[in-house]
Amino acid sequence: MNPFQLKNGQLHVESVSLSDIARRFGTPCYVYSRAALEASLDEFQRELVGLDALVCYAVKANSNLAVLNVFARRGAGFDIVSGGELKRAMAAGADPKKIVFSGVGKSADEMALALDIGILCFNVESEAELERLNEVAGQKGKRAPISLRVNPNVDAKTHPYISTGLKENKFGVAYEEAVNLYRRAANLPHIEVEGIDCHIGSQLLDASPFAEALEKVLQLVDEIEAAGIRLRHIDLGGGLGIRYKDEKAPAVQTYLEPLLRALNDRKLKILLEPGRRLVGNAGVLLTRVEYLKPGEVKNFAIVDAAMNDLARPALYDAWHDIVPVAPGGGKHLDWEIVGPICESSDFLGHGRPLCLEAGDLLAVMSAGAYGMAMSSNYNTRPRAAEVMVDGERCHVVRRREVVDELFAAESVLP
Ligand SMILES: *Cc1c(COP(=O)(O)O)cnc(C)c1O
Repeated sequence: MNPFQLKNGQLHVESVSLSDIARRFGTPCYVYSRAALEASLDEFQRELVGLDALVCYAVKANSNLAVLNVFARRGAGFDIVSGGELKRAMAAGADPKKIVFSGVGKSADEMALALDIGILCFNVESEAELERLNEVAGQKGKRAPISLRVNPNVDAKTHPYISTGLKENKFGVAYEEAVNLYRRAANLPHIEVEGIDCHIGSQLLDASPFAEALEKVLQLVDEIEAAGIRLRHIDLGGGLGIRYKDEKAPAVQTYLEPLLRALNDRKLKILLEPGRRLVGNAGVLLTRVEYLKPGEVKNFAIVDAAMNDLARPALYDAWHDIVPVAPGGGKHLDWEIVGPICESSDFLGHGRPLCLEAGDLLAVMSAGAYGMAMSSNYNTRPRAAEVMVDGERCHVVRRREVVDELFAAESVLP
C-alpha cells in the first residue's frame, strides 16, 4: 500500500495534506502513516498464520514510542540493541516475553536490566559475552535465556556498511566454533539455551542469501541437537529490503516461503527481526526550500532539513526520492538538494530534475527507517518534529526540540 498520494495537486498522507502538516507543525518534520505501518506488519503476520512464530520489530530502525506502540498493539515483539531501547519498548507497551536483545557490546547493567524485566532471549555474540551474562544472572540467582548469534559466512550482497554475515564482520560467533560454544553454554549454571540466531545484513533485495544462511544454520541445529542440546526457537534476523528508487524488493512471501518450507518439519518456533521493511516506506521527511542558488556548475536548492535529520545520503550515499508536495511552477533545473550544515557531505539528493521556487515544500520519501533514529544535533540543530497520520487525524508523536534544551545538560567551568 502507498499512503502517499497526490490528491487535488497536493501530496497527501492518508487523508491529510503535507502542506497542512507543514503549516501546523513546521519543517523539517517526519511524517508517518499508521495505516502503512500496520499494513507492513500484516504482510509478515499473514505469512505466519497458524505457525508458532513471532515478529520482533528491530527497534533501532525507528524507535518512536508511537511507532512501537502501533506494533505492540498488533502483537509484535521487539528486537532491541541497548538498555535504552528496552526501556523505550516497555514504555510503549511491549510484552517483555516478546523481546530479544541483540548486539555485540551489552554492558553488565544492560544485562541486569533485561534480566529484571524478564525478556524472551539474549542473542549472545561472543564467548566473553556468554561468560559475563552467566555471571550477571548468577548474581541475581537467575538463568538467562540465550541464543547464540552465529555468523553463517554468507555474502548478503548489500552495502558493506550494512553487511553483517561475513567472517570479516564483528557480528556473531564463528560458524566453526558455534557447536563448542553451545556445549559450553549448556554447562553454565546460569544460562538456559533457548535458541539459535543469525542476521546477515540489511536492505537485502534477493531471497537467496537468506535461504543459504538458513541451510547452514540448520546444519548447525542438527549438530547441536546431536550433542544433546535442545533448541526451542530459530531467529532468522531481519534485513528484508525496500524500494527506494527502482529496486525490485520482493514480497515478504517471496522471502519467507522458502524459509518456511525448509523449517516445515522442525519443531522450532520462528522469530524474525525486520526493521526497515516495517517502517521504511511508511514515513517521509518533510522539508521546505529556504533558498535557491543556481550556478554555473551546479544549482543548489538549500532546504531546512540536513544530514543531521537524515544521515543516510551522507553516510551510505543512499538515494531517496525527493518530490514536490505541490507540483507546479518554478524553475526547472537539475538541483542539488542540500541542507544548511557546514559539510560538503550535507546533501539529501544530487542533480534532481525539479521545478522549484523558494518556499516550496519537498517530501523526502522512504525516510521511515534509519531516519529520525540516526538523527543528531550536529550544528546545534534541534531535532525535527515527528507526526503520525491516522486517517483524517494527525498526532504529534514527538514535539520539535527547542534550542535551549540542547545545551541544558552542559555547564561552564567555575
Ligand atoms: C539492524 C538489525 C536488524 C534489522 O535490520 P533491517 O535491515 O532493518 O531489517 C535485525 N536484527 C539485528 C540483529 C540487527 O542488528
